[in-house]
Amino acid sequence: MADAPNPEHKPANFLRHIVEHDLAQGIYAGRRWSGKPASGPEQQAGQPDPANIRTRFPPEPNGYLHFGHAKSILLNFGLARDYGGVCHMRFDDTNPEKEDQEYVDAILDSVKWLGCSWDAFGQGHLFHASDYFDFMVQAAEALIEAGHAYVDSQSAEEMRANRGTLTEAGKDSPYRSRSPAENLDLFKRMQAGEFPDGAHILRAKIDMAAPNINLRDPAIFRIRHAEHHRTGDRFCVYPMYTYAHPIEDALENITHSICTLEFEDQRPFYDWILERIADCGLLARPLPKQYEFSRLNLTYVVLSKRKLIQLVEEKHVEGWDDPRMPTLVGARRRGFTPEGFQLFSERIGVTKSDSLIDMSVLEDCMRETLNESAPRRIAVLDPVKLILDNVPEDHEEWCEAPNHPQKPELGKRPVPFSRELWIEREDFVETPPKGFFRLFPGNLVRLRYGFVIKCVGCDKDANGNIIAVHAELQPDSKSGTPGADTYKVKGNIHWLSAKHAYPCAVRLYDRLFAVPAPGARREGDAEGLERDFLDDLNPRSKQIISAQLEPSLKEAMAEDRFQFERHGYFVADRKDSKPGAPVFNRAVTLKDSWAKGH
Ligand code: ATP
Ligand code: MG
Repeated sequence: MADAPNPEHKPANFLRHIVEHDLAQGIYAGRRWSGKPASGPEQQAGQPDPANIRTRFPPEPNGYLHFGHAKSILLNFGLARDYGGVCHMRFDDTNPEKEDQEYVDAILDSVKWLGCSWDAFGQGHLFHASDYFDFMVQAAEALIEAGHAYVDSQSAEEMRANRGTLTEAGKDSPYRSRSPAENLDLFKRMQAGEFPDGAHILRAKIDMAAPNINLRDPAIFRIRHAEHHRTGDRFCVYPMYTYAHPIEDALENITHSICTLEFEDQRPFYDWILERIADCGLLARPLPKQYEFSRLNLTYVVLSKRKLIQLVEEKHVEGWDDPRMPTLVGARRRGFTPEGFQLFSERIGVTKSDSLIDMSVLEDCMRETLNESAPRRIAVLDPVKLILDNVPEDHEEWCEAPNHPQKPELGKRPVPFSRELWIEREDFVETPPKGFFRLFPGNLVRLRYGFVIKCVGCDKDANGNIIAVHAELQPDSKSGTPGADTYKVKGNIHWLSAKHAYPCAVRLYDRLFAVPAPGARREGDAEGLERDFLDDLNPRSKQIISAQLEPSLKEAMAEDRFQFERHGYFVADRKDSKPGAPVFNRAVTLKDSWAKGH
């Protein structure tokens, strides 16, 4: 991540206030770090922790990262960077099913692409929760011995029935009073594989009457005879997420464990479990603390993993990295920028109240960052021939176009000019409507960075379609020469020399969904009508066109981004481009075309 050591320049938010408060109070100053995630006694034997704070980004490797994850990534890595800490990259791979190396690789790639690094203080901080399984078992046994956990042998149905409701207390399990020795024996036999899935479960012993249902003896270990992608068949008991997560944080010396709001009700258990394990002497104090912020919700997309999987599996899109997908691999192919995500995350801020952010906010951030960095090029997306009748067939000369009109230091590039040009079909009409200043018979127009021409007419095919426009070059009108200013023209169009241009497939991407809230009920919907988010897919979200591009674009490398003048921002596709033959994706248009109806 770019250096930004001065947190004063960042917009304040409640999490920054908490971190600043904790640092001022020296709450974490005495922590020690053994150089790796470890139990309390091992950490205590280490050096003073070089990191002021430790945060973490803990995805489950069961899917690709989406725009919501970007908010969490930039928040956690940003806090660590700004306050002299480190953010751990941790795979929360405690669930043996549905996890895959393919996801692991893609996740690491996306986090790096966003500009985040887990290297700090001379070491990497890439961790796997599955490396802590042994400790989690050990801690569970310590809890059993201390009378804080028991093996329950009720059926899943009985457990559900006895959990109670929001208004009714739960009922104690008949197995709740098992002795520590009996519990320990059963838990060891669970680990040894003596029982089938679901036969027993290890639960924390808290309070079946707790008003917070999450404290009614939550499960901490379950039997699951399944292959894990890293530990194989070494374990047949796996920890529950709510037990595993606080332990992962504590072993890694995390100070601020930041998660989304739906975990707010889990916080008491987070604290309870860590305090009990610390009491057993297995974890060092001060313990990590959990803080919640509101997740990102965006219009015109879906961010639920289940729905994203459905889009891919049912082939509504061409894969996880389809440029229309709200995934980071998709955004990258689309031509979105890491800087744009950074700007977006600062602009939307961090709060505790749920909100829905309009997609145009993200698109604007992309436009702003692309405007800064993207060199200008010429593209004719809907080409029609323009023939300059008074220019000889073999004439060739060069004009100069600036690479970035607001940044003269980026220089100019030569663009070839000749008798036959490509122009946009919409830049010529036979009978101009009021206020139309571009080509129509008799009108003078400037070819941008080139000459002034006078339109003289057009050729049509048998069906009346215009197949070529004719014009005459005006003498002494070349841009940048003394005579150029004597012409007063209102219209200015872009063009390409036809024999030099690069014919190329250009993909015009637009929003994946046509409505702000895909699948949501709309005003006037009949009672009981259920909408399917798939019905709201935008049928015009992808168009492939045959465009003509400036010859220099042939040399574009995959992922090079440009502004095609008058059209928007485009990127050379990283998957389908070949050396010397790039294809381009539209990232965003120059202006928001969705703002006033589409
Ligand atoms: P799952 O339903 O599989 O748990 P998830 O979206 O929570 O899906 P994780 O891989 O567990 O996926 O998420 C990793 C981190 O990203 C978590 O800390 C989570 O809080 C955060 N995160 C996920 N979705 C969003 C979102 N929409 N906005 C902000 N943060 C998010
Ligand atoms: Mg999750």
